[in-house]
Amino acid sequence: MIIMKKDATEEEIKHVVTEVEKHGLKADVSRGEFRTVIGLVGDESKISFTHLAVLSGVKEARMVEIPYKLISREYSELFEGRDESRIVQIGDVRIGGESPIFIAGPCAVESKQQLFRIAEEVKAAGGNVLRGGIFKPRSSVHSFQGLGSLGNDEAIEALEWLREAGRRFDMPVMTEVRGEMQADLIAEYVDILQIGARNMYDQDLLGKVAQKGKPILFKRHFGAGIEEFLSFSEYIVAEGNKDVILCERGIVPVGKGKSYTRYTLDLAAVPVIQKESYLPILVDPSHAAGRRDLIFDMSCAAIAAGASGLAIEVHYNPSEAKVDAQQMITPQELKQIIDTCMEISKTVQIHRKKVKV
Ligand code: PEP
Ligand code: MN
Repeated sequence: MIIMKKDATEEEIKHVVTEVEKHGLKADVSRGEFRTVIGLVGDESKISFTHLAVLSGVKEARMVEIPYKLISREYSELFEGRDESRIVQIGDVRIGGESPIFIAGPCAVESKQQLFRIAEEVKAAGGNVLRGGIFKPRSSVHSFQGLGSLGNDEAIEALEWLREAGRRFDMPVMTEVRGEMQADLIAEYVDILQIGARNMYDQDLLGKVAQKGKPILFKRHFGAGIEEFLSFSEYIVAEGNKDVILCERGIVPVGKGKSYTRYTLDLAAVPVIQKESYLPILVDPSHAAGRRDLIFDMSCAAIAAGASGLAIEVHYNPSEAKVDAQQMITPQELKQIIDTCMEISKTVQIHRKKVKV
């Protein structure tokens, strides 16, 4: 990381960037209120820090040991000149601000009728973003893979429905990009690109999706530690895309015998990540719990823990859903969750300000 002097000129900054690039690294230039900071992206062993430190306009060049320096809160103070959380703005929807946001919709888009009815009811319940899977990650090749897997025409048709539903009901829309091949197509239709838990480790996919320049919902792998999760999100940010929304969705349960939930919701990850990174963190109680009867409680707990919002699977007739029927809630239940979570969020924020640890 190279910290420029307060009065460093544009030319001096440019010269440092050229030096960095000459050594095969990328330079992430952040112009803060007080000073410019240049983060090096790539193999730092290729460059001498003592050489960088003596370049004109450079105040300091230092090695940053944490593997997620570009998204770290500590270094954002240097990058941005102030310690602030990032707000990812999509139209009127602000993710990471004071008010929690709610992403909701079916696990999988099944038909135009199904999607439009759910979209209308999600909007009426107070939802902010419409979700719907078109390319579904499934454990069995013999189960419904989403309309995207049926062929290019079907994929495009489903993407058109999603875009149209978003416009009709005035919500940004989100769907999962499972492979690099789908990224260009999907990015033409949706506002938020979702990276699913299974693909958290696919650094080529992360790089490719980041280049689309759209906000990315980045889900934690069910076997990933928090540091690992943050480190992989850096593959997106290193492409110059800082509109990353992190999402905790449960990790693999431990111990023998029944765990009673699909995954174990790691709620401590929420405040931990908020201390470590300036990126917003959401919680997906649906895939974590895997059970409709737990969604209300887990949603309330996530918002109380400080999550910037929730991603919840919703269907007007849960038992009819082709995918994840057991964890789907109704739009009426979604409304109860949203109303309750808005109250919890306000109350907890007032009290959190008084707590000093
Ligand atoms: C999803 O949100 O559609 C999904 C498949 O979740 P995850 O990637 O967390 O399993
Ligand atoms: Mn699902």
